[in-house]
Amino acid sequence: MGKSTDIDEERFFSHMALSNSLDALMVTSVEGKILWTNAGFEKMFGFTRKEVSGRRPGDLLDGPETSTEDRTRVEAALANREKLTLEILHYTKDQTPVWVEKTICPIFDETGQHTYNMAFSRDITQRREMEERTREVMESEDLRQNERRLLSQISEWLYSAKSLEELLLVVQKSMQTLLPEADGQLYIYSNSRDTLDLMSSWGVGKADAHIDAEDCWALRRGRAYSYGTKAIEFACSHCESEDVPYFCLPIIAHGETIGLLHLNFSAFDRTIVPRDLIVTFMEQRWELGLLCAEQISLAVANVQLRQELLDQSIRDPLTSLWNRRWFLDAAHKEMKRAETSGGDLALVSLDVDHFKKFNDQYGHDAGDIVLREVGSLMRSIFPAPLAPCRLGGEEFVVLCPGLDHEAAMDMANEFRLEISKLEIAHGDSTLPPIFVSAGVVNYPEGGKTVVDMLKQADLALYKAKESGRNCVISASNMLAKIAAE
Ligand code: GH3
Ligand code: MG
Ligand code: MG
Repeated sequence: MGKSTDIDEERFFSHMALSNSLDALMVTSVEGKILWTNAGFEKMFGFTRKEVSGRRPGDLLDGPETSTEDRTRVEAALANREKLTLEILHYTKDQTPVWVEKTICPIFDETGQHTYNMAFSRDITQRREMEERTREVMESEDLRQNERRLLSQISEWLYSAKSLEELLLVVQKSMQTLLPEADGQLYIYSNSRDTLDLMSSWGVGKADAHIDAEDCWALRRGRAYSYGTKAIEFACSHCESEDVPYFCLPIIAHGETIGLLHLNFSAFDRTIVPRDLIVTFMEQRWELGLLCAEQISLAVANVQLRQELLDQSIRDPLTSLWNRRWFLDAAHKEMKRAETSGGDLALVSLDVDHFKKFNDQYGHDAGDIVLREVGSLMRSIFPAPLAPCRLGGEEFVVLCPGLDHEAAMDMANEFRLEISKLEIAHGDSTLPPIFVSAGVVNYPEGGKTVVDMLKQADLALYKAKESGRNCVISASNMLAKIAAE
């Protein structure tokens, strides 16, 4: 084969290789202007050779997100006539970003003269996306692990809460740690179950003190509700704004819905933040929100159970007044307090007159009704910190911290008068009026122990019974009389 055939063959294959190369090739002058590009260049960047000829590659291909550090590296390599390979973000003619692995090399002629620069660019956008995605997955995995760790620490705290107050404090703190992007509220059904009361709130959001179950889609439909990401959806009417995405998560204890955890993402206002960002964010937070609601549900159930057990041990089930056990403990503490602070403390011992006749004439259930009415009126006439208690049968006592003798006498008499005015229906008839007798004693005249005080109050009460019932007798007067004799 002749020399010219070799050259022809060489040209033919070089041309074929350059035309079909998937890499973008570019030759620039020493001054940095484009002289030639291959077909791959047009495919990758969308510019024809004519369009780019004479332009500067940087002006053409770099864009808003191209790092200045990368640009400086390219410029320095060109200035120093050094070969450089780097990953750089370029932009196509229609401004689509393309990540390329780019090699720049200076070309020298036989005399060593710098004549051209060449650049080879390979599209690595897909690889970069994969890397980016992997990094995101790793990051979100890290985040999730961190959340799980936090959640398990927090659930320990939630479980150790002994009272609702303590629990609410833990809820507030933990929600701010776990979901700092959310402001939130915890609502619990009121005893009447027609509204929910605000128990705890955190973050910047304003919160209603009460909400109606009918105003919440989660409570109406009986399942967790995420708002702010779908094309058609309705905001709960207890929410302040229709533009703020949120979660409404029912709090369920012992199979019954007892409340609502509302989490509001006000930083993700739909009028400001693009929808796809909100969707991604809300999807990421959904599972954590559900886990929080579940943990809070378990913790509330736990506290309620504790409270019920405690109540059972210190409350009288018929009247819901404190029982003897609670009274002995509380009276002891109050006496200690009166002793150290010197404050007033009185005890009212109270007994229903001829109670047996209610039982005998109207039946045991009528007797029970009378006891419940007595309990209920005692609660309203002797409000906290005064503490009415049922010691047993139809014998009651009121622990009265802060009341001097006269005030205690007055209140006992007020109760005696009010209870006698009650008309209690029973079947077709009305029960006869309820009369009570009472004895009042004060600390420390009545004794320095609970047993002594109670004994003196009971003595005064017997005296009231002896004096014809339906009256209040003061133990101090009796004691004064005994002392005088
Ligand atoms: P007095 O004026 O002297 O206090 O007379 P009384 O009938 O009220 O007093 P007594 O202590 O003789 O009778 C109390 C009765 O209360 C006896 C008991 O059967 C009844 N009783 C005790 N506990 C209950 C209860 O829980 N329910 C009902 N219905 N009766 C009870
Ligand atoms: Mg009685
Ligand atoms: Mg009695």
